[in-house]
Amino acid sequence: MKTNRTFTMLKPDAVEDGHIGAILAKINEAGFKIVAMKMTQMSRRDAQLFYAIHADRPFFSSLVEFMVSGPIVAAILEKENAVEDFRALIGATNPADAAEGTIRKLFAKSIQCNAVHGSDSDENALIESEFHFATREIF
Ligand code: ATP
Ligand code: MG
Repeated sequence: MKTNRTFTMLKPDAVEDGHIGAILAKINEAGFKIVAMKMTQMSRRDAQLFYAIHADRPFFSSLVEFMVSGPIVAAILEKENAVEDFRALIGATNPADAAEGTIRKLFAKSIQCNAVHGSDSDENALIESEFHFATREIF
Protein backbone atom coordinates (compact mmCIF):
# COMPACT_ATOMS: atom_id res chain seq x y z
CA MET A 1 0.00 0.00 0.00
CA LYS A 2 1.10 3.56 -0.67
CA THR A 3 2.43 5.52 2.30
CA ASN A 4 0.05 8.45 1.66
CA ARG A 5 -2.73 6.39 3.22
CA THR A 6 -4.09 5.89 6.72
CA PHE A 7 -6.67 3.62 8.31
CA THR A 8 -9.63 4.75 10.41
CA MET A 9 -12.60 3.30 12.26
CA LEU A 10 -15.68 5.21 13.30
CA LYS A 11 -16.12 3.51 16.67
CA PRO A 12 -19.37 2.02 18.07
CA ASP A 13 -20.26 5.18 20.02
CA ALA A 14 -20.10 7.38 16.92
CA VAL A 15 -22.15 4.92 14.84
CA GLU A 16 -24.76 4.44 17.61
CA ASP A 17 -25.11 8.22 18.06
CA GLY A 18 -25.75 8.79 14.34
CA HIS A 19 -22.52 10.66 13.61
CA ILE A 20 -21.34 8.68 10.54
CA GLY A 21 -22.39 11.34 8.03
CA ALA A 22 -21.06 14.30 10.01
CA ILE A 23 -17.68 12.63 10.63
CA LEU A 24 -17.30 11.58 6.98
CA ALA A 25 -18.09 15.18 5.98
CA LYS A 26 -15.26 16.45 8.23
CA ILE A 27 -12.92 13.86 6.72
CA ASN A 28 -13.83 14.92 3.16
CA GLU A 29 -13.61 18.65 3.98
CA ALA A 30 -10.09 18.06 5.32
CA GLY A 31 -9.02 16.75 1.92
CA PHE A 32 -8.98 13.00 2.47
CA LYS A 33 -10.17 10.70 -0.30
CA ILE A 34 -11.96 7.50 0.79
CA VAL A 35 -10.35 4.53 -1.03
CA ALA A 36 -12.00 1.72 0.99
CA MET A 37 -14.99 1.67 3.34
CA LYS A 38 -17.38 -0.74 5.06
CA MET A 39 -19.70 -1.15 8.04
CA THR A 40 -18.87 -4.21 10.09
CA GLN A 41 -18.80 -5.50 13.68
CA MET A 42 -15.59 -6.75 15.24
CA SER A 43 -15.52 -10.06 17.12
CA ARG A 44 -13.81 -10.22 20.52
CA ARG A 45 -10.85 -11.93 18.89
CA ASP A 46 -10.70 -9.19 16.22
CA ALA A 47 -10.66 -6.46 18.86
CA GLN A 48 -8.07 -8.27 21.00
CA LEU A 49 -5.79 -8.65 17.97
CA PHE A 50 -6.36 -5.13 16.66
CA TYR A 51 -5.49 -3.55 20.02
CA ALA A 52 -2.94 -6.22 21.06
CA ILE A 53 -0.35 -3.51 21.75
CA HIS A 54 -2.54 -2.45 24.71
CA ALA A 55 -3.03 -6.00 26.10
CA ASP A 56 -1.22 -5.20 29.37
CA ARG A 57 -3.02 -1.91 30.01
CA PRO A 58 -5.68 -1.78 32.74
CA PHE A 59 -8.31 -0.53 30.26
CA PHE A 60 -7.75 -3.36 27.74
CA SER A 61 -10.75 -5.60 28.55
CA SER A 62 -13.03 -2.58 28.78
CA LEU A 63 -11.69 -1.31 25.43
CA VAL A 64 -12.34 -4.70 23.80
CA GLU A 65 -15.92 -4.85 25.17
CA PHE A 66 -16.53 -1.32 23.87
CA MET A 67 -15.15 -2.09 20.41
CA VAL A 68 -17.39 -5.18 20.01
CA SER A 69 -20.49 -3.47 21.43
CA GLY A 70 -21.87 -2.45 18.04
CA PRO A 71 -21.03 -1.86 14.40
CA ILE A 72 -18.11 0.26 13.27
CA VAL A 73 -17.28 1.90 9.95
CA ALA A 74 -13.79 1.01 8.74
CA ALA A 75 -12.12 3.06 6.02
CA ILE A 76 -8.82 3.72 4.28
CA LEU A 77 -8.09 7.38 3.58
CA GLU A 78 -5.68 8.91 1.07
CA LYS A 79 -4.00 12.29 1.33
CA GLU A 80 -0.45 13.61 1.29
CA ASN A 81 0.96 13.09 4.82
CA ALA A 82 -2.17 11.09 5.66
CA VAL A 83 -1.17 9.52 9.00
CA GLU A 84 0.02 12.73 10.64
CA ASP A 85 -2.69 14.95 9.17
CA PHE A 86 -5.45 12.54 10.21
CA ARG A 87 -4.15 12.36 13.79
CA ALA A 88 -4.30 16.17 13.83
CA LEU A 89 -7.85 16.11 12.48
CA ILE A 90 -9.11 13.65 15.13
CA GLY A 91 -7.39 15.32 18.10
CA ALA A 92 -6.13 13.97 21.43
CA THR A 93 -7.20 10.54 22.75
CA ASN A 94 -9.07 12.19 25.63
CA PRO A 95 -11.69 14.59 24.23
CA ALA A 96 -11.12 16.82 27.24
CA ASP A 97 -7.63 17.48 25.83
CA ALA A 98 -8.64 17.62 22.15
CA ALA A 99 -8.30 20.91 20.26
CA GLU A 100 -11.37 22.87 19.19
CA GLY A 101 -12.78 21.72 15.87
CA THR A 102 -11.22 18.24 16.00
CA ILE A 103 -13.44 15.20 15.46
CA ARG A 104 -12.93 13.95 19.02
CA LYS A 105 -13.68 17.39 20.48
CA LEU A 106 -16.91 17.46 18.48
CA PHE A 107 -18.09 13.85 18.81
CA ALA A 108 -16.22 11.89 21.53
CA LYS A 109 -17.86 11.19 24.87
CA SER A 110 -14.90 9.97 26.94
CA ILE A 111 -11.28 8.80 26.73
CA GLN A 112 -12.62 5.33 25.85
CA CYS A 113 -15.69 6.20 23.75
CA ASN A 114 -13.73 8.63 21.60
CA ALA A 115 -15.53 8.33 18.26
CA VAL A 116 -12.65 7.49 15.91
CA HIS A 117 -9.43 5.54 15.50
CA GLY A 118 -6.49 6.77 13.46
CA SER A 119 -3.32 4.81 12.63
CA ASP A 120 -0.19 6.09 14.37
CA SER A 121 2.37 5.20 11.64
CA ASP A 122 2.60 4.26 7.96
CA GLU A 123 3.57 0.74 9.04
CA ASN A 124 0.50 0.35 11.28
CA ALA A 125 -1.76 1.94 8.64
CA LEU A 126 -0.81 -0.89 6.31
CA ILE A 127 -1.20 -3.62 8.95
CA GLU A 128 -4.58 -2.27 10.08
CA SER A 129 -5.84 -1.81 6.51
CA GLU A 130 -4.95 -5.40 5.65
CA PHE A 131 -6.61 -6.55 8.89
CA HIS A 132 -9.97 -5.14 7.75
CA PHE A 133 -9.88 -5.19 3.94
CA ALA A 134 -9.17 -7.65 1.15
CA THR A 135 -7.09 -6.34 -1.74
CA ARG A 136 -10.16 -6.25 -4.00
CA GLU A 137 -11.92 -3.91 -1.53
CA ILE A 138 -9.17 -1.26 -1.73
CA PHE A 139 -9.33 1.19 -4.64
P1 ATP B 1 -6.67 4.94 18.58
O1 ATP B 1 -5.53 3.94 18.56
O2 ATP B 1 -8.03 4.29 18.78
O3 ATP B 1 -6.63 5.86 17.39
P2 ATP B 1 -5.15 6.66 20.30
O4 ATP B 1 -3.99 6.28 19.44
O5 ATP B 1 -5.48 8.11 20.41
O6 ATP B 1 -6.47 5.92 19.83
P3 ATP B 1 -4.26 4.73 22.22
O7 ATP B 1 -3.32 5.07 23.32
O8 ATP B 1 -3.75 3.96 21.04
O9 ATP B 1 -4.98 6.09 21.76
O10 ATP B 1 -5.47 3.95 22.87
C1 ATP B 1 -6.35 3.15 22.08
C2 ATP B 1 -7.76 3.35 22.55
O11 ATP B 1 -7.89 2.81 23.87
C3 ATP B 1 -8.20 4.81 22.72
O12 ATP B 1 -8.60 5.42 21.52
C4 ATP B 1 -9.35 4.67 23.68
O13 ATP B 1 -10.54 4.19 23.00
C5 ATP B 1 -8.84 3.59 24.60
N1 ATP B 1 -8.13 4.16 25.75
C6 ATP B 1 -6.90 4.72 25.77
N2 ATP B 1 -6.54 5.15 26.99
C7 ATP B 1 -7.60 4.82 27.80
C8 ATP B 1 -7.87 4.97 29.19
N3 ATP B 1 -6.98 5.54 30.01
N4 ATP B 1 -9.07 4.53 29.65
C9 ATP B 1 -9.97 3.94 28.83
N5 ATP B 1 -9.77 3.75 27.51
C10 ATP B 1 -8.61 4.19 27.00
MG1 MG C 1 -3.53 4.27 18.98
